[in-house]
Amino acid sequence: MSPEQFSAAVLDWYDSHGRKDLPWQQGINPYRVWVSEIMLQQTQVSTVLGYFDRFMAALPTVQALAEAPEDEVLHLWTGLGYYTRARNLQKTAQLIMAEHAGEFPADVEALTALPGIGRSTAGAIASLSMGLRAAILDGNVKRVLARYVAQEGYPGEPKVAKQLWDVAERFTPQQRVNHYTQAMMDLGATLCTRSKPSCLLCPLRSGCQAHLLGLEIRYPIPKPRKALPQKRTLMPLLSNSSGEVLLYRRPSSGLWGGLWSLPELDDLQALETLANRHSLQLGERRELAGLTHTFSHFQLAIAPWLIRVESQPASVAEADWLWYNLATPPRLGLAAPVKKLLKRAADVLNAGPITGEQP
Ligand code: SF4
Repeated sequence: MSPEQFSAAVLDWYDSHGRKDLPWQQGINPYRVWVSEIMLQQTQVSTVLGYFDRFMAALPTVQALAEAPEDEVLHLWTGLGYYTRARNLQKTAQLIMAEHAGEFPADVEALTALPGIGRSTAGAIASLSMGLRAAILDGNVKRVLARYVAQEGYPGEPKVAKQLWDVAERFTPQQRVNHYTQAMMDLGATLCTRSKPSCLLCPLRSGCQAHLLGLEIRYPIPKPRKALPQKRTLMPLLSNSSGEVLLYRRPSSGLWGGLWSLPELDDLQALETLANRHSLQLGERRELAGLTHTFSHFQLAIAPWLIRVESQPASVAEADWLWYNLATPPRLGLAAPVKKLLKRAADVLNAGPITGEQP
């Protein structure tokens, strides 16, 4: 859809379906729109309804808000949460009285200079109450637009936010911008909902990329998960002259429960303890390329060392330890990275004897 077709579809929908009876849509002025926008920032419309009416009855003008005792403002806000919003509201009212002669500046940039007014709130005040062509991008509109253009990337990222703002600016019409703004907020709140968008009723569906791909819920892309904590381990591949590698079976509960694994050591010093435990005499060793394995709650960086075993007892004395033959592997459950490392070790050993550092 062209921007003109987009806004025409939104405005048509507004005429038949948009909300026109919300309290802040009556007797519209910048003060009422501003207070409602701030209340709606973290709160559902249904909750805001009662608060808005009480607030307006007690403090009907920006002057009344500027002059009210702070306790009164906080009292009217009690239950809405995020009390910084209420304090900023009063600070802004006082600034408007002191620096703008009691009038909201008719300019998005000047509005955003006031405490607690971001670009989207400024756009809503300017478009809804002043009829200025100004885009908005609150949570609801962000969802609609991110889906419409199938916007990749988390919208909290500045680069992605800028791309979405560019889309919002492009689609905002010259005429009836107040109705368009209201309609976009309504579309996000009523049709293009977070988990169950009603695409069949949506006026934008013929051009909506997310809908055409059947991937509505994928957008907006959620915040990336925090980087997982890292752990390191050293895995020795103790290899004897028969082409076998020493493995042990992990306890049945916990990570890789019951699977066969390479020993895990904190460092090369711990190798001596391991060798003594199994009466092994070690020869040359060589570090293999490391690998990283991701568990649900951490990442394991594995440093594998291929180590020649010069001599060993006839059999392993402990249960749950065995010599694993690389050429004729027994059928055992192996942890995925261990399987990979055994294959790597087999390739290296097939190419020739282990050379590298002396133990
Ligand atoms: S078609 Fe569906 S996903 Fe796209 S904007 Fe409309 S409701 Fe949202």
